[in-house]
Amino acid sequence: MSRFLALVPAAGSGSRFGGPSPKQYLQLNNRPLMWHTLQTLAQIEAISEVVVVISPADEWFDDFDWKLPKLKVLRVGGATRAESVRNGLLAMSAAEQDWVLVHDAARCCVSATIVERLIATLQDDAVGGLLALPVADTVKRADGETRISATVPRQGLWLAQTPQMFRAGLLLKSLEGASSPDITDEASALELAGYKPRLVEGDAQNFKVTYPRDLALARAILASRKD
Ligand code: C5P
Repeated sequence: MSRFLALVPAAGSGSRFGGPSPKQYLQLNNRPLMWHTLQTLAQIEAISEVVVVISPADEWFDDFDWKLPKLKVLRVGGATRAESVRNGLLAMSAAEQDWVLVHDAARCCVSATIVERLIATLQDDAVGGLLALPVADTVKRADGETRISATVPRQGLWLAQTPQMFRAGLLLKSLEGASSPDITDEASALELAGYKPRLVEGDAQNFKVTYPRDLALARAILASRKD
């Protein structure tokens, strides 16, 4: 039977965020930010393993007591997110047909409910897919001087989130065939290989902590769930 494995690339330096350590290690409600991410994934019954990929040069991971079931750490991160995912896939000994749920370390407010919805929707799908949100705002394209050059019709536009769920074999094959800088998520590697991943409605709370201003919202969401 196919297993469901979570793969969390966490080898980024968080350059947009700034600060002395990568954002995944910032303290958030008394735990490293990434602990919340890993904890939610580990509590999902269908998921049998939570694999976190960190950089071989990581100096922070061992400073914390993670105490989470199902957790496995691989120090095989690469120069890009796609490389970290590829290296993780090669090192984690997944079977070709196993489902891999790739999830950003920095999406720490992910809920078990939306991941379970993703699994339920896709487990019989031929390709796989991802959580995403239909665009609600009016979309503008800017010129080089921050002036509007066009209003882009928002119909049919979605914002990609994670987890992104694909069979290990197909994902690895797609990532190996792609070295384009346009590969900013797993779905784009599948698209380049000619597949059409399915969009499954996610949740606005599943946002990626990217800038310091995002922390207050993440703190509030996590605190509200604890209550
Ligand atoms: O940079 P961005 O926010 O898009 O990164 C998304 C995820 O990919 C983060 O969890 C980050 O740690 C991870 N990543 C990685 N290896 C890299 C770059 C990013 O694992 N070289």
